[in-house]
Amino acid sequence: MAVHLLFELLDLLLPTACAGCRTGRTQLCPVCRTALAATRAGPAGPQPAPPGLPPLHAAGPYADPVRRLLIAHKERGALRLAGPLGRALARAVHPLLDGRPVLLVPMPSTRRSVRARGHDPTLRLARAAARELRRGGHPVRAAPVLRHGRAVADQSGLTAAQRRTNLHGALVPRPGAARLLTGRQPVLVDDLVTTGATLAEAARALGALGHPPRGAATVAAAVRRRQPG
Ligand SMILES: [Zn+2]
Repeated sequence: MAVHLLFELLDLLLPTACAGCRTGRTQLCPVCRTALAATRAGPAGPQPAPPGLPPLHAAGPYADPVRRLLIAHKERGALRLAGPLGRALARAVHPLLDGRPVLLVPMPSTRRSVRARGHDPTLRLARAAARELRRGGHPVRAAPVLRHGRAVADQSGLTAAQRRTNLHGALVPRPGAARLLTGRQPVLVDDLVTTGATLAEAARALGALGHPPRGAATVAAAVRRRQPG
């Protein structure tokens, strides 16, 4: 058997390579695990921030290996990455905590994308982050509270003002949202922030329910981060 065929066969039989760097035989190699754990959470925010965007923290910039790990978790169902990515998200949430109970509110996926992917990646990350924070003694839970109320047009090519108009009213509370939020301050969570427009719309929806979010946290920020302090 030719060597390359042998390697192809082994590829089929052995566990996948690291989702972060595509080497090794584990889904997350020690080098990428360390790189993910070493990200320094800090304030993040698009410039200019969309009106209504609450204080936003990100675990790190949207750069490899974190970028590849997020894509593998979201699009390729690499579910074992939810733990380490959730711990990174927990570090971004942590500066927003002050001892009072918090509900992590994941940015909703559309029903169609949940069906296509077979899971809800942001809800999974929110639950992993909440578990990590509870282990640290923080009264934090996660629950899906928002859903899409109507379809929105493709955001690409729209100006900031047009995006706001396009998104206004796009997110609405799910049944039971008010009960889940009773006695808990919401913190919005997502895997990635780009323009912040969707997070601002989620903040508006929670504010309309009488529960404005304390802040927002993401694993990665695809924008220039402000220096902490
Ligand atoms: Zn790796």
